[in-house]
Amino acid sequence: MIKQINVKQFDLITIGGGSGGLAVAETAAQLGKRVAIVEASFMGGTCVNQGCVPKKVMWYAAHLSHANHDAQGFGIQVKHEGVDWSKLVQGRNQYVNDIVSYWDNYVDESGIEHINGYGHMLESIEGQHRVEVNGEIYSAEHVVIATGGQPMVPPIPGVELGMTSDDFFKLEQHPKRIALIGGGFIGVELSGVMNTLESDVSLYAREARLLEHFDPMIGKVLMQEMTRQGVDLNMQANISALRKTDQGIEIINGDESKTFDVVIWAIGRAPNTRTLNLSVADVEVQANGMIPVDAYENTNINGIYAIGDITGRPALTPVAVDAGRKLAARLFNEQHDAKVDYDKIPSVVFSHPPIATMGMTECKARQAFADDVSIYQSSFTPMRYALSDNKSTTAMKLVCVGSDEKVVGIHLIGDGVDEMLQGFAVAITMGATKADFDATMAIHPTSSEELVTMKHPVADIEAECMPVQVAC
Ligand SMILES: Cc1cc2nc3c(=O)[nH]c(=O)nc-3n(C[C@H](O)[C@H](O)[C@H](O)COP(=O)(O)OP(=O)(O)OC[C@H]3O[C@@H](n4cnc5c(N)ncnc54)[C@H](O)[C@@H]3O)c2cc1C
Repeated sequence: MIKQINVKQFDLITIGGGSGGLAVAETAAQLGKRVAIVEASFMGGTCVNQGCVPKKVMWYAAHLSHANHDAQGFGIQVKHEGVDWSKLVQGRNQYVNDIVSYWDNYVDESGIEHINGYGHMLESIEGQHRVEVNGEIYSAEHVVIATGGQPMVPPIPGVELGMTSDDFFKLEQHPKRIALIGGGFIGVELSGVMNTLESDVSLYAREARLLEHFDPMIGKVLMQEMTRQGVDLNMQANISALRKTDQGIEIINGDESKTFDVVIWAIGRAPNTRTLNLSVADVEVQANGMIPVDAYENTNINGIYAIGDITGRPALTPVAVDAGRKLAARLFNEQHDAKVDYDKIPSVVFSHPPIATMGMTECKARQAFADDVSIYQSSFTPMRYALSDNKSTTAMKLVCVGSDEKVVGIHLIGDGVDEMLQGFAVAITMGATKADFDATMAIHPTSSEELVTMKHPVADIEAECMPVQVAC
């Protein structure tokens, strides 16, 4: 039963204490506002608990295991006895728990009210928006929806035999045979980690190319690399069912089948809007569950905002954090025009090797600027692998437009590019041209020097970016 009396009042309530919710709450509290966070689970949200953080710990484990192998070519005597899965999982969980505790303490010490439970919207009364949690009502002039998303699974027989990326982080035993279903960044990242940690890995994707929204060069090199490293890639897959057998979980893919210990669905994420009662507060929701917002994160209802994954914007922690901080600065610090620049977002996929990209793909640039596009490209085996039998490829592409060759896209795959991009992102955000890259002294011998030493634009257009000829 909902208690109608003693409604607790705040300046701002955020529903969701993940990357976006914490950022908006933290900034508002620093500006002296009365703030509450409604969080149904652990503080920190997806990134801390089931995303970036535990994933990157696993990636580091895999990365170190790879380095261990490569070290032998350099004469380093190493004894490799595989991975102690329990130790890895225990250490990772402790690391995550420490971050959650940090946020719990930070919220308390900042005077932010932590309301534990599921938030539901109620009708607004006299300019105050109301949120119900565990039968209590809380009200605020400003309510931020920052409830993120959750993994999707398909409606096929045996779907429950598979797990999601959330469940991956609960695996107590090292699976020997594992299948990842999905050719997006989560499928690619978890495949790379598990392959490097010596599981037999199969990846199934509906598309013809992994990471199909990325520049075609990235997907092509990634597929070559994953195949070379022993991942069984099943492209244009059509999975009709999962079946339990004496040997494990069988994936039925067209006429073929293969059996695994663990199957992970990584086919995308759905926004957490269904249980929020948004219609009661008249907040518009799209058919796919996303909340449409304008450039300032306003929903259609004055005083109700949405930030982070729930808006369908790039699903990245720094994007949600920036949206939260800018929104609080706009509402409470007179920064009336504070808003996120959604056109300039660098991002990394922690695959093996990693991928780093920012800005327009070659195809997008050719669609927008036709012949006014110049592409600089390089592909090589980095010196790190000189004495190793593991000849991993690094590939780089700069997408430039106009007579001044403004750099509008950068696409990198290879060892070290995950740490390389941030600095180049500063230059691109500032509007760097190819001439600025050329004028920058190289650092030798590094992989990154290739980015400032590319001399001639390539003559060929990437096949996937060719304009489609439509017959009259
Ligand atoms: C496997 C994986 C790896 C990732 N790796 C990266 C990476 O390397 N780099 C990167 O930048 N991003 C990464 N991401 C994406 C990143 O985690 C998200 O973009 C980010 O967490 C979005 O923040 P958010 O605030 O929108 O939502 P979330 O962080 O998901 O927070 C939403 C919070 O709302 C809570 N909640 C939901 N409904 C309710 C309700 N009704 N009432 C109360 N609370 C509710 C949830 O419990 C959750 O804590 C990864 C994601 C996944 C799944």
